[in-house]
Amino acid sequence: MRAVWALLGACCLVSPGARAATAAPAGTTAPAATAAPPGTTSPAPTVAPAARAGSAAAGFAALPKIDVHVHINSSDPALIQQAQADGFRLITINVDYPDFPPVATQRTLARTLAAAYPQTLAWVTTFEMQGWDDAGWQQRVLAQLDADFDAGAIGLKVWKNIGMEFRDRAGRLVMIDDPKFDPIFAHVRERHRVLVGHQGEPRNCWLPLADMTVNNDREYFREHPQYHMYLHPELPGYEQQLAARDRMLARNPGLKFMGAHLASLEWSVDELARFLDAHPDAVVDLAARMGQVQYQSNRNRVKVRHFFVRYQDRLLYGTDLTQEPGVDAAEIRKQAHAVWMRDWLYLSTASVQRVPELDAPVRGLALPRAVLRKIYAGNAERWFGAAWKGLPAAVGAATVR
Ligand SMILES: [Zn+2]
Repeated sequence: MRAVWALLGACCLVSPGARAATAAPAGTTAPAATAAPPGTTSPAPTVAPAARAGSAAAGFAALPKIDVHVHINSSDPALIQQAQADGFRLITINVDYPDFPPVATQRTLARTLAAAYPQTLAWVTTFEMQGWDDAGWQQRVLAQLDADFDAGAIGLKVWKNIGMEFRDRAGRLVMIDDPKFDPIFAHVRERHRVLVGHQGEPRNCWLPLADMTVNNDREYFREHPQYHMYLHPELPGYEQQLAARDRMLARNPGLKFMGAHLASLEWSVDELARFLDAHPDAVVDLAARMGQVQYQSNRNRVKVRHFFVRYQDRLLYGTDLTQEPGVDAAEIRKQAHAVWMRDWLYLSTASVQRVPELDAPVRGLALPRAVLRKIYAGNAERWFGAAWKGLPAAVGAATVR
């Protein structure tokens, strides 16, 4: 159980226990849950489940794919090797998160692994809030950023500790639109890197556990009461967190921004559409929020599918898969493959499957191949440029039918 936690206990609400419970059983290479579960009210599938699974697996293998949001906190290349086996490139993201190894350790791991696997792995750096009140904090962060960018980092991550946790010497909560961050974000823009922002939390975070819409939110906030804002009414609310983020973006035009976890607007494709319309330099990743998308598509599949098609240039595939030190390599590989296949079935087919995030079965969106090509790789290639070095021509030239 510890190993499962270590793999999937990511910074941002992957559901470790629930995901483990429905992972593909040992020995299967296709997801276990492709058949329509008993009692589903969705339309009858038109293709036999086995044939559907086979064709989905073939489509998966043929498409170039990038998971833009993982955390590799171990020197073991197991997750990288599974990515190579499944045709994925990865972005590993450093985070100023107390459950992760120290930032300096994360940085060394990312640099070392990206140098060893340049075709597969790129990395995003971060900074620590520690020392914020010191006169030299800003210059120190800028110097570190230059060193990291020179070493190949493709972006900078800012996390929810800004806005929800870190206080300055005066006891004031530091928000993401604090002017002290502006030279740092300006530097990210000048160096043509991407700011990856996880501000706020899913809206569920401000609700009691029983009212949350997805199982993974319920589990994470049960395990992390310090981040469960329903228990902390003295802290800024959901709207205040996102308003600070949006003010920061408005003050930094031209800054390429990737809103992690659907920019904390996971509960409403309408709200997400408004955000993307208002911020033309922003994209969002899907990491650890597929359950929230599925919650919505179970209520209005046509609307969610329309959103994916309309915003096909602004959505980047990601999972939040996390590899902690000391976990079993075979277990990690099995889990990663199961998560990737489950998401693939949802996005690329109309199959009905059970997912750990929801109690109800979920019918896939069956997105067009051209849309999948963008969400799975094209948008990340456009956004992050030549992040992955020395790609074999066969991958770079892969065509989509
Ligand atoms: Zn994460």
